[in-house]
Amino acid sequence: MNEQISVLLQQIDARKEELIELTKKLIEFETPAPPARNTSDIQEFVGEFLQKCGFSIDQWDVYPGDPNVVGVKKGKESAQHKSLIINGHVDVAEVSEDEPWKTGPFAPFVEDGYVVGRGAADMKGGIAGALFAIQLLHEAGIELPGDLIFESVIGEEVGEAGTLQCCKRGYNADFALVVDTSDLHIQGQGGVITGWITVKSPQTFHDATRRQMLHAGGRLFGASAIEKMMKIIQGLQELERHWAVMKTYEGYPPGMTTINPAVIEGGRHAAFIADECRLWITVHFYPNETHHQVAQEIESFIRKIADADPWLRENPPQFQWGGESMIIDRGEIFPSLEVDQNHAAVQTLFSLHERTLHRQATIDMSPTVTDGGWFSEFQIPAAIYGPGTLQEAHSVNERVAVKQLVEFTKVILTFIYEWCHTSKAE
Ligand SMILES: [Zn+2]
Repeated sequence: MNEQISVLLQQIDARKEELIELTKKLIEFETPAPPARNTSDIQEFVGEFLQKCGFSIDQWDVYPGDPNVVGVKKGKESAQHKSLIINGHVDVAEVSEDEPWKTGPFAPFVEDGYVVGRGAADMKGGIAGALFAIQLLHEAGIELPGDLIFESVIGEEVGEAGTLQCCKRGYNADFALVVDTSDLHIQGQGGVITGWITVKSPQTFHDATRRQMLHAGGRLFGASAIEKMMKIIQGLQELERHWAVMKTYEGYPPGMTTINPAVIEGGRHAAFIADECRLWITVHFYPNETHHQVAQEIESFIRKIADADPWLRENPPQFQWGGESMIIDRGEIFPSLEVDQNHAAVQTLFSLHERTLHRQATIDMSPTVTDGGWFSEFQIPAAIYGPGTLQEAHSVNERVAVKQLVEFTKVILTFIYEWCHTSKAE
């Protein structure tokens, strides 16, 4: 390893306290989502931090009170060298009043070798490590030949995908690393899409007409939307079972492709036949599938069931897929992410992990979802790699091991250095 980098790695050990302080500082910003709309202060902090390290800052409101911050440090030989996006979300999982936090979720402390506080594992530890690595590179006067882009985004916990907004704004690179919770595994992920299925009657009937729509000779062509939804739920269960039998993806236990009937709303009052019923579903899919594809599979399956029912044939169920916010439009999409093990950046990260930490890296699949899929959606090769475990993420007294935080910081520092020194021709 390059002499200058070896010195910096020693610096990370020697200045571990600064890394811990930075992690605690980020945790102190109260950024739970929901309620969201509370990230202006932390984003200002991150923006200033990057600015001091020579980045130019682009900041814009995704929602009022929830800005994205993107820092760009142009490489000195930008056209010839690989560029890198580092991506992290500054919002954290929600907290509720009655949770038994030792000191409060936003009053971090260190205990038994762990930094404790909301977001320690998911993912302020990852952001702190990446920022600290950037600071050390800057202080050492290292000018990278390739571009380095730092995306500090909002909204991940509530499907508001600040990352999607960065992609739409045109930020692009030869590789993107999402430094979200992965226990230092190099990970891809399956995807999630939510959807609403609505059964709606064109007429509203009085409760007293039920006999006529059910029994011989009643001659009233009507139905309860709630009862018709039962057929659709049964259909979804059949499709879910069929998927579980037929679909597999290496690195996942079979049957991960679930269709969860999560929320049901319907009917208006006991004096009416239910004229509308809405079902909110959560659909998980494998990395080699897209959300368009699985939504299509569900629609065509359910349409066939509806076609076999005289009333649903005339009043087919309506589908509304995804959404840009669990808070505003009650919907979200997390596209899937396949990791190409032969991609130069993945191989570089894999070997630097081993060289720096003296143990082999693991490439596998995250059992959850992150913003990583948005890069795949925009044809930017990407992987997830960050400190902390999913057992710790979102938990009460959430924590991240200082040892792993240090290890992450070392690996990401060497990765930034190596990847941004790699020729585009390679
Ligand atoms: Zn996260």
